[in-house]
Amino acid sequence: MKPATAAADGVPMRERDTIAAISTAPGRGGIGIVRVSGQALGAFAEALTGSAPTPRRTALRVFRDAAGEPIDEGIAVYFAAPRSYTGEDVLELHGHGGPVVLRLLLQRCVELGARVAEPGEFTRRAFLNGKLDLAQAEGVIDLIDASTAQAARCAVRSLQGEFSARVHALDAAIVELRMLVEATLDFPEEEIDSLDREDAARRLASLRSLLDEVLRAARQGSLMREGLHVVLAGPPNVGKSSLLNRLAGEELAIVTDVPGTTRDTIRQAIDLGGVPAYIVDTAGLRESDDPVEKIGIERTWKAIDEADALVLLTDVTRSDDAARDRLVERIPPEVPRIRVINKIDLTGDTPGVDPTQDGAVVRLSARSGAGIEDLRQVLLAIAGWEGRAETAFLARERHLQALRAASEHLGRAHDQQRTVELFAEELRLAHERLAAIVGEFTADDLLGEIFSRFCIGK
Ligand code: GDP
Repeated sequence: MKPATAAADGVPMRERDTIAAISTAPGRGGIGIVRVSGQALGAFAEALTGSAPTPRRTALRVFRDAAGEPIDEGIAVYFAAPRSYTGEDVLELHGHGGPVVLRLLLQRCVELGARVAEPGEFTRRAFLNGKLDLAQAEGVIDLIDASTAQAARCAVRSLQGEFSARVHALDAAIVELRMLVEATLDFPEEEIDSLDREDAARRLASLRSLLDEVLRAARQGSLMREGLHVVLAGPPNVGKSSLLNRLAGEELAIVTDVPGTTRDTIRQAIDLGGVPAYIVDTAGLRESDDPVEKIGIERTWKAIDEADALVLLTDVTRSDDAARDRLVERIPPEVPRIRVINKIDLTGDTPGVDPTQDGAVVRLSARSGAGIEDLRQVLLAIAGWEGRAETAFLARERHLQALRAASEHLGRAHDQQRTVELFAEELRLAHERLAAIVGEFTADDLLGEIFSRFCIGK
């Protein structure tokens, strides 16, 4: 007996179920959308909206419950397979955006045989039905989650397949080279003539430089996705909260004259010219017996251990030296430090980067804003931001790892050009790593992991 979880063609039953979800964000809104995807939804749509749907035509309909009572009145849109987001029949019910009415609509869908979709299940089906590849599917959720305008632009490029196209171009070049090399393997008795060798070497070199370029763009994209983790440290009252507010452009932390009032860790996401930065304010990092303050201190130390950069803030009118803080001893020496001298509005010092000092020293005034842009630029430079947002892809760690691994295999192929078998094997491995980016060979658990991070209804 076949297990009941798979249909005759081997597709798991779960992937054939009709699924439904509220696709709009929770809460109140002008419009709320319930989306349904399944194998044959004509009768389903008719039962709910009172008449047979015409594909790709909007229609004003009354959505009714089992007793024929209206639940809502709205627009129904029907997409017949395969011309839909998921590649299956899709029905969208655009009703009024209230949580109760949408729940009633969803309930009605369940009565009609749908089950509530898991996070990302619509996009998972779109991937499984070949409507988009894995890198594009990741672009979908990255667009939804984008925290800066630049990140959103990069995500939409991935979604539209720009990143995938670059990966496919690399892929095609590897395939060509592999064909050349493997043909040689098939005829071992024939001497590989030197011309072929030169040709293979040339192709490999251009492949490697192409891959380097993609890797570079992907690294920029990864920065835009992961952001820069900055720790802001210094004695009480030097202006840490004020600087944080100034960088964020709005009042976020509690600014106060009483030392130690900002007790907890404040991790604030700010837009650093397109790159998100997460800034941790270390205010309140002092010896303390207060249990609440102790928790805050613990959390701050944890955040400090994950820092990409450390901003040490001092007050130009005081002799406190933030760099002599015990904090500094704890931070690994390879984490870049920026010394920032605040409150120059009180002394009239020139704002900006001090070229006479070793390492980065920035003078500024959190109060007037003078020198803040210089600090932004220093942070971006430390992050390795090349300012090439227009060519970046919102890459994930998974993509970077695959690109790096492919690059290593190509490097090894380069070193082993004399041994054809090893050369061919390294090319094969590089090809495999690249193909995993777009999901050509992808394990089920990786798919589960990627799609489970989606929101419901997408
Ligand atoms: P924190 O304890 O390090 O977070 O310091 P706060 O941001 O709470 O600032 C302490 C005091 O310094 C407040 O009275 C701020 O208004 C003041 N302050 C902060 N930055 C500046 C600045 O650039 N110039 C001047 N004159 N005062 C500042």
